[in-house]
Amino acid sequence: AAKNAGRGRVEVFDEDASKHSLGRLELRSDLSQALARNELTIHYQPIVELDGGQVVGFEALCRWTHPRRGPIPPDEFIPLAEETGAIVGIGEWVLGEACRRLVEWQRLRGNEHLRISVNLSPVQLAQPDAAARTLDVITAAGAVPSDVWLEITEHSSIRQDVTGFVTALRAAGVHFALDDFGMAYSNLSHLKRLPVEILKIDKSFVAGLPAKDTDRGIVRAVLAIADSLGLTVVAEGIESADQRAELLALNCRQGQGYLFSRPITPEAATALLRAGTLILA
Ligand code: C2E
Ligand code: MG
Ligand code: MG
Ligand code: MG
Repeated sequence: AAKNAGRGRVEVFDEDASKHSLGRLELRSDLSQALARNELTIHYQPIVELDGGQVVGFEALCRWTHPRRGPIPPDEFIPLAEETGAIVGIGEWVLGEACRRLVEWQRLRGNEHLRISVNLSPVQLAQPDAAARTLDVITAAGAVPSDVWLEITEHSSIRQDVTGFVTALRAAGVHFALDDFGMAYSNLSHLKRLPVEILKIDKSFVAGLPAKDTDRGIVRAVLAIADSLGLTVVAEGIESADQRAELLALNCRQGQGYLFSRPITPEAATALLRAGTLILA
């Protein structure tokens, strides 16, 4: 029995060691202060019409500059924020900030229907009153709900039933995108259940264009599904002119990626809009 207990302890310790290494624990606690200490910022990546390079909107992407460690990538700190629950406050702040920027940019462009895309964590969706709170943040920022696209992942719609949330906000005009489409379990019944209007093709598939037949096949299939269901497709991670040309050949109309622009500071986004709304890649 003693031997078993010992073995059990070792396992628990191992798990702890990987999940809560000293660095991770420290980051977790630092993250809880990050918002209050103004260490978080938001960068904005243009979403463009692939044909012509017209900017149709921006995706808000959160950034954390740690006072000693420097920039921490969101793929690292968002999961930590989800573990601690800090993502709820961070997510509402990102949404509010992004909506205020949107209003500023629409004024600058003469009320043009620019849109803002904001990522939502499954942890936010699980909050009581998530729908009402989300709508409050949007309207308090002065944004028109129908200019806001909320990006949720297939993963979050598997972990919980998000139909109520999505349906309530759709009724208020907010649009929904299924992010990283094709990456998770790709259960097509989501598309039947959820009133989403946009599918974002994950950059891992775009990366294989135009050479990889499997990736081209997947992109083609996603576009066919979207077409028959009347959904818009946005391709992520477009880095080359060849990828853009291939996507256009497959009749994908919108996308984002380093070819057009990296995520940029709000000031750089304002400068871009002042100069016009065309990015010719
Ligand atoms: P995502 O929502 O799928 O965002 C797209 C990611 O692709 C961003 O990474 C963006 O910088 C990157 N990207 C854009 N164009 C290219 C390209 O041409 N090539 C390559 N290789 N990458 C490109 P980022 O900013 O590091 O964000 C990573 C993920 O973190 C996001 O993936 C999203 O899931 C999450 N995230 C970021 N900000 C937030 C936030 O405010 N809230 C939540 N819940 N998640 C966020
Ligand atoms: Mg996204
Ligand atoms: Mg994505
Ligand atoms: Mg992603």
